[in-house]
Amino acid sequence: MNQRYNSLNLYFWLLIAVSFGLVSVGLALSWMYGHTWVQVLGHICRVNFQHLKEHLPVATQLIIPTILLIVIIRGGMSLVRQLRTTGQLIRLFLPLRESLPVRVEVLLAAHGLKSEDIVFLNLPIAHAFCLGFWQPRIWLTTGLVNLLSNEELDAVLAHEAYHCRQRDPLRLLLVRTFKAAFFFLPLVGDFAQAAELQQEVGADQAAIAYLGDDLPLLCTIQKLLKIDSAERWPTAPYSPFNVTEARLRRLIYPSQPFCWQIYLPSGLISLGSMIILGIIVLLSVQPGLAQTSHCPYEHVALFHTDAYAS
Ligand SMILES: [Zn+2]
Repeated sequence: MNQRYNSLNLYFWLLIAVSFGLVSVGLALSWMYGHTWVQVLGHICRVNFQHLKEHLPVATQLIIPTILLIVIIRGGMSLVRQLRTTGQLIRLFLPLRESLPVRVEVLLAAHGLKSEDIVFLNLPIAHAFCLGFWQPRIWLTTGLVNLLSNEELDAVLAHEAYHCRQRDPLRLLLVRTFKAAFFFLPLVGDFAQAAELQQEVGADQAAIAYLGDDLPLLCTIQKLLKIDSAERWPTAPYSPFNVTEARLRRLIYPSQPFCWQIYLPSGLISLGSMIILGIIVLLSVQPGLAQTSHCPYEHVALFHTDAYAS
């Protein structure tokens, strides 16, 4: 794979680095203080949440585990929803698979594709997409094949073959899961959006490099613009050949310089959120705070498990 295309995955790897960093911090905190969190929660439940307002040092100890729980539930729900939608799509459309038209079959070898890598559906809508996590395949419809010339079909195959080689549906699955999990950090959302756009830009550049010309791709997009080519299953992590404004802008102005300023507001908000969370953690793990409070169950407010020995 061309080095230039790999560098386009920058936002995906930034998102993964930020998300794994946060998950690691969460796991480390759970490892160190999980036992104490459970005990604090147990005591608070036993006293029926009384005195909670008066004894904030105890309550703040539960902010971090609550956020961790929300992150796990949101991320898990997004993952399950995406996997379920993908399964439904495959179960719905795979039985409709038909043998490939000859004019598509003869184009495959040049892209390193075999006929089993393509799922051809006899449907009137014009649609092409890459679907599947471990062994992604290209799905094409009769509507699209009839709409395009051979050169334009070549552009679509080059675009979708790039998605398959890069396992972009799997990347999308992770991107959307982390975006849902860390919904309270706008920088993660921005990285997720940029990573999705980079997938499309990378696939477009691969198609242009393969054909040595951007005209077939632009003609394909123009034809698709005339019909309804909106994304049909937005919750499924698949890579459709659809036309978005951001993708068009990158095609028309390919040498746009990197503009880091657009990430400044979300970066500052995210940094502010992380600093607030960090302060909460620091305050929570300071035994002195709890000891100076007059909490009726202050012995459970200490983060050191030794405190339970007495
Ligand atoms: Zn695409």
